[in-house]
Amino acid sequence: MKLPAEFRGSLVVSCQASDGSPFRESASMARFARAAVAGGARGIRADGPEDIRAIRAAVSVPIIGIWKVRQDDGEILITPSLERARELVKAGANSIALDCTARGQRRGALDRLRQIRQELGVPVLADIATVEEAVQAAEAGADAVLSTLRGYTAETRHVDGFEPAFIAELVRTVGVPVIAEGHIQTSGQIRAALDAGAFAIIIGSAITRPETITQMFVSALEGWRRGNDAERVVIGIDLGASMTKSGLVSGSGELLSESVTPTPWNAGRQALLKHLEQSATACRDEARARGLEPEAIGLATAGWVEPVSGEILYATENLPGWTGANPAEYLQNALGLPVAVENDANALAVAEKCFGAAQDATDFVCITLGTGVGGGCYIGGRLNRGRHCFANALGHIPTVAGGPRCTCGKQGCLEYYANAAALLRYAARGNFATCEDVIAAAHDGDPVAQCAVETLARHLATGCSAIINLLDPELLILAGGLVQNNSLLLRVLEEELASRVTVWDERRLRLQASALGYSAGVLGAAAVAVVTMSDGWSGRQAAARPASDTQNTD
Ligand SMILES: [Zn+2]
Repeated sequence: MKLPAEFRGSLVVSCQASDGSPFRESASMARFARAAVAGGARGIRADGPEDIRAIRAAVSVPIIGIWKVRQDDGEILITPSLERARELVKAGANSIALDCTARGQRRGALDRLRQIRQELGVPVLADIATVEEAVQAAEAGADAVLSTLRGYTAETRHVDGFEPAFIAELVRTVGVPVIAEGHIQTSGQIRAALDAGAFAIIIGSAITRPETITQMFVSALEGWRRGNDAERVVIGIDLGASMTKSGLVSGSGELLSESVTPTPWNAGRQALLKHLEQSATACRDEARARGLEPEAIGLATAGWVEPVSGEILYATENLPGWTGANPAEYLQNALGLPVAVENDANALAVAEKCFGAAQDATDFVCITLGTGVGGGCYIGGRLNRGRHCFANALGHIPTVAGGPRCTCGKQGCLEYYANAAALLRYAARGNFATCEDVIAAAHDGDPVAQCAVETLARHLATGCSAIINLLDPELLILAGGLVQNNSLLLRVLEEELASRVTVWDERRLRLQASALGYSAGVLGAAAVAVVTMSDGWSGRQAAARPASDTQNTD
């Protein structure tokens, strides 16, 4: 038994319609199949003997047969018995696919897989959601594994987009052909799947479900309307290691209210989550008192964040227990609102793009100077997060080899030379109490303070010239406490950059201080929600919308 050779590197179209769809009849499926073959598809995937008979009469390409049957637990199971598989083959299916996820396996999928191969003599394809399930199915004799059910099982509910990395991992791990199916909507995703080693591609909804395709466009349209509506409000929460700022922000970036509470930073994960819930609830009460109903929550938090799942991938000991927390899921369950979450420095860049100095910029860098040094970069109009969501660690760009140890454990990081503590260190001879004092004194001509600001600017220029040489941005925005009322810093930084950055004169880089001020954190958190709304909520977030979108597996 072998997969049809013509599947290799080709497209198979899944022709299915859910109950209630205007296309829910076998004749329609046969028409979709004819159209698919006319367009170059080399195979069809179809559900149930009636559809398969109609499709077999209409086209001659191989058919992958499945039979979706609702089980006693109320959930659909794909091809739950040998008898059903036999009927599919009789109807004209050349191979059979069945649910080999953990749930399917609990219902006998692997024995069934062996039986179908032996007794019906056709290749059997395993629909799976995880690598473990794929390995088990391959060991049981599956002729191929299909990523069909990733994102649709209890274990993979967090996945709501196509993951080429998952395909690559399957290809590396299982010894049978891997067919990419599920969440594929663009030609770029097809290329990524083939690059990852996929044997073939199966596409369903994006070709044969006009309702789903329409919905995709409508949701983009709604998102645009929402993003443009100043009347709508979102809750922004900026969770810092010492203070939490929260407030109500309009869709056009107007701050309607703001409050600050101390962060229970060392009370553990549950206390932090509870604290966020209280902040969000207070904001919602405030909104309702004004006759408004917030539409979403944006959370900016210290630490690295996986924006789709909402999980904190890594947080330092400034917030013990925060690594691994999922504040997005928690807040979403607690308040019933969609939640978008982002790293706090990235969120400031989003705020500049959404409400601030970078609204017209596509390539810019926002760098924040305060207790820490951090930043966010937009490349080609999108926030760059990096492959593992660890991008933009601007404060940890090494600037001095073998320099003093940084909070991150490495040596000579930019942060050590350009944060608030550094400015006070450079100005030590002047006995200043705060950075504001140093900056004010520099402004008034105090030589010690001026020299301190200049020293900081020169160190900052080392890091910034690396960033500029790498990314060639059109705009560099400086934000945070050290930049407020500090024109000397900007002036010296620009002079230093001019002398250090290659082809400086040809770059028309603008240098600017952020105008978002003290509330930038809350605005950033809110901007993350506004941008996510206008890009369209992910499955997780959409689940919290009152009219929740339904999802289809093909
Ligand atoms: Zn560091």
